[in-house]
Amino acid sequence: MKIPTAIPNVGALEGQYLQECITTEMVSTVGPFVDRFEKAVAEACGVDLGIATSAGTTALHAALTGFGIGHGDLVMMPSLTFIATANSIRHAGATPYIIDCRRDDWTFDFDLCRSVLERETVAAPEGRLHTASGKLIKAIMPVLVMGQPVDLAAAAQIRREFGVRVIVDGAAAIGTEWMGQKLGKSEIDALCISFNGNKTVTCGGGGAILCPNPEDAKRLKHLVSTARTGANYDHDMVGFNFRMTNVQAAIGCAQMERLASFLEAKARISAAYDAFADRHACLSRFPLSAYGKSSHWFSGFWYNGSSPALADEFRAHMQSANIDLRKFWKPVHQQTPYLNDLRTAMDNCEDIWWRIFTMPCSTNIKDEELAYVLEQAAIFWDAHG
Ligand SMILES: *Cc1c(COP(=O)(O)O)cnc(C)c1O
Repeated sequence: MKIPTAIPNVGALEGQYLQECITTEMVSTVGPFVDRFEKAVAEACGVDLGIATSAGTTALHAALTGFGIGHGDLVMMPSLTFIATANSIRHAGATPYIIDCRRDDWTFDFDLCRSVLERETVAAPEGRLHTASGKLIKAIMPVLVMGQPVDLAAAAQIRREFGVRVIVDGAAAIGTEWMGQKLGKSEIDALCISFNGNKTVTCGGGGAILCPNPEDAKRLKHLVSTARTGANYDHDMVGFNFRMTNVQAAIGCAQMERLASFLEAKARISAAYDAFADRHACLSRFPLSAYGKSSHWFSGFWYNGSSPALADEFRAHMQSANIDLRKFWKPVHQQTPYLNDLRTAMDNCEDIWWRIFTMPCSTNIKDEELAYVLEQAAIFWDAHG
């Protein structure tokens, strides 16, 4: 079997809670585990009400729709992200405006975002009018790359100054802190999390929306759960069925109880790759943002040399040693569905993405597996500088 990049860490507690779903016959979209999971995630993020969803992508989609972003609107997002960020914008009927990342820590470039808003948009009654396209920039969607915090003070400043919504794609943000605080304590409109199988905390699949403003949270909860009013089949708007099931939430509740040990494992694995990078001249540590604590969702190191072929050779070497080292996120502006969307110059992300090695970092990786991964990596890099 291959050593995977990141797989679920599930065991006896998850099994016990799943059995409870069967015993109580509560396997669908309503159930005690859903309520409990929403509370646990809300508590972890510092907000009153959590909204569990079917996926991280649907959480983002619903948040956009819930804040009135749709047809004819633009949403600014980074190119260095998983394609779901862009897909959620298109699902909502809007169009992405794709921007480059920062060179130093790979996170959302709020200075670049601001300069686009200043140079290309003017104030209009409904928001910021992008003069060249005639569309309205209604939101920005920063991404917490690898679980790294971004400059949420800069986000808040842009939110106030330009009247745009801030919807954070914090897919891997369980465990991330911003300046010593929980993310929900910041001045944003929504934080969207994923509980996909490769994330630190998983529900098998699932997501959540966290809104600092309780009124927004109530509205979005209504929107994702078919917009039903009362006990009968009365619905007051076109809602989504983006609900999480009690089965998914049962796994999620067990995972949240184990969160501290998961985060500890992620930090320990990340430190092992940092130490490895320090021993090899052409490798560097993953950067750490200056804005708080990372959840270290993915860890590894990056290649600081000049040969893309060598980076690919390393991936092939690891694959042949049964270690699943793949390329990291291909920038969204290079992806087929997004080739024609608005964008900035992309010097940073084009130069960075192929250098990134996201190494095996499952929280249940065994010591001997991690040692084997490092040994195989050393065989390659000791021979190639
Ligand atoms: C995982 C991920 C998502 C999507 O979440 P799903 O639960 O798979 O829909 C979105 N954005 C980023 C940055 C992710 O890493």
